[in-house]
Amino acid sequence: MKDQAASHSLSAYLPPGHHRLPPLPYPYNALEPYISTTTVQIHHDRHHLSYVQGLNNAEVKLAEARQKSDFSLVKHWERELAFHGSGHILHSIYWTTMGPGGIREPFGLVRQYLEKYFGSWPIFREQFTQAAVDVEASGWALLVWQPFWRRLEILTAEKHQDLTQWGVIPVLVLDLWEHAYYLDYQNRRRDYVEAWWHLVDWSEVEKRLQLALPARVPLGKAHV
Ligand code: MN
Repeated sequence: MKDQAASHSLSAYLPPGHHRLPPLPYPYNALEPYISTTTVQIHHDRHHLSYVQGLNNAEVKLAEARQKSDFSLVKHWERELAFHGSGHILHSIYWTTMGPGGIREPFGLVRQYLEKYFGSWPIFREQFTQAAVDVEASGWALLVWQPFWRRLEILTAEKHQDLTQWGVIPVLVLDLWEHAYYLDYQNRRRDYVEAWWHLVDWSEVEKRLQLALPARVPLGKAHV
C-alpha cells in the first residue's frame, strides 16, 4: 500500500537527468562459473553506466530545448531517450533476476501463468531459448506481463527498444548483446543462454509478476 500511495504522489518524482546506476545486488564473482567476474564487472560498471549517462544526457538536452523553445534536434534526443532509457531499465531487471542462491524453477503464480499460456515449463523454456538464440545482432529475450490481455508473453527486442508490444511489463530479461557473453562464450550464444538458465532466480520473477498484476491498461474507455 505504501508503494501504491507513493506512485500516486509527486513525492517520488525524479527530475530530468537524475538517474543513478543501481548497485549490483551481489559481488562481481557471484555468477561464476556461468558468467565471469570480468564480464560482470565491465558489463555493469561500464556498459550499464553508459546507458544511465546517455539517458540523463537526453533528458537534460530535452529540458534545455524546452527552456529555449528550440526543438530542432528533438528527433535525435527522442531516439536517445528510447535507446538509453530502455537500456537502463532492461539492465536493471537483468541483474536482479539472476543470483547466486535463487530458486531455479518457476513456482507460484508465474508457474500457473506460464503453464496456462505456454502449456508447460519445458515448452516455455524451449521457446524462450530458441527466441533468444535467434535474435538478430544485439538485443534481448524477454518474459513480459501483458496487461492488455492479462497474460505472460515472450517477446524479443533488437537493440533495447525495437519490436516490443506497448504496455508490457518485463518480469525476466536476458541480455543478448555480445558484451554480455563474448569474453566467456565468444560466438556460442546458445551455450550462454543455456548457462543463464542456471542463474535465473524465479523468486524475483514471481515477485515482479505479483507487482505487475494490478496494472490495468484497458482497450476500451478507461473507468476509475
Ligand atoms: Mn548489456
